[in-house]
Amino acid sequence: MNFIDYSGFFNSPELTALISLRDKNYARKNNRDNFIESLKCDTRKIIFPHQTHSSNISIVDKSNSYPETDGLISTTKNLGIGILIADCSPVFLFGANSDHCGIIHSGWKGAAGQITTNALKKFIDLGNKPSEIKAVIGPSIDKCCFEIGRDVAQHFSSKNLLSKKGSKLNLDLKNEIYEELMNAGLSKKNIYRDGYCTFCEEEKFFSYRREGALAGRMIAMMIVKSR
Ligand SMILES: [Zn+2]
Repeated sequence: MNFIDYSGFFNSPELTALISLRDKNYARKNNRDNFIESLKCDTRKIIFPHQTHSSNISIVDKSNSYPETDGLISTTKNLGIGILIADCSPVFLFGANSDHCGIIHSGWKGAAGQITTNALKKFIDLGNKPSEIKAVIGPSIDKCCFEIGRDVAQHFSSKNLLSKKGSKLNLDLKNEIYEELMNAGLSKKNIYRDGYCTFCEEEKFFSYRREGALAGRMIAMMIVKSR
């Protein structure tokens, strides 16, 4: 099982934070379970929401059902969180002093609805200072490939829109998310932006734009384990 490991950036030996590559379609439960078990985690302890490109964030508890939710926060050790991804960005949050972790599924709809800001508000409500929050913006369809129409473009600041021929524009989704993180008061040094474009990197990633409705999904997950 191949994945990109961000645990080192967060610099906490108890934290696992990663996104898989496209070895398997992780939208299928058995593939997902095999992946989670390969990391020596309990499949029942990694919670996935029912993603709908909403701007809703939930804090996970014993419940297993998170309808219309595109971001989860865990304040509990050994209770992990995950999302499924194909072009949207996975955003990872970690409270360096609290061990809280958060994972967000943000495409253009999520960014337009400021889902990352919503998650950060919850993080701060939970007692995390912005200066103590670290974040990773994972691979997504990038500004080279993320073509959008004028109707979508109206949700975003012109500085994150690149003009293309005709009426099309390209969206710099990662920079939109980066600005949400900066506006919430995070330090530059505490933000890592993955450079990969899921559309360009055909060998590594699934891409909904490239492959259409049959595209598989990567898994992005976080868990803080007690030693
Ligand atoms: Zn690209």
